[in-house]
Amino acid sequence: MHETSIINSVARTLEMEFGEDRLNSLERIFLKVGILSNIEPRLLMNAFEAFQQTYPTFSKVSLEIESTPLVIHCSSCDVDSEVQNYKFICKSCGAPSKEVIQGEEMLIHKVEFNDD
Ligand SMILES: [Zn+2]
Repeated sequence: MHETSIINSVARTLEMEFGEDRLNSLERIFLKVGILSNIEPRLLMNAFEAFQQTYPTFSKVSLEIESTPLVIHCSSCDVDSEVQNYKFICKSCGAPSKEVIQGEEMLIHKVEFNDD
């Protein structure tokens, strides 16, 4: 499943970044998921829960998923617009733009540790 491999790569990224010891006090992971990323937040959550059963390090970690809207950039007036109803149109000048600058990605926004 697509979502399972995403969770695996998130876990691997965090392991490489913080090391296994540090991850024992990891409390929360915040992901940002673009609406055009082909990732279904609900399935991602399911995959994470399944992952937690296999990897005790993550058993107490909670996952927060935020959907990020689609944003395009207009090169003629240098303005970014949020796409509504799949209308790829600059909010300032009304020109069409296909230059997507946000909404296709999935990223680890931040993580929180329990340092008590
Ligand atoms: Zn414009």
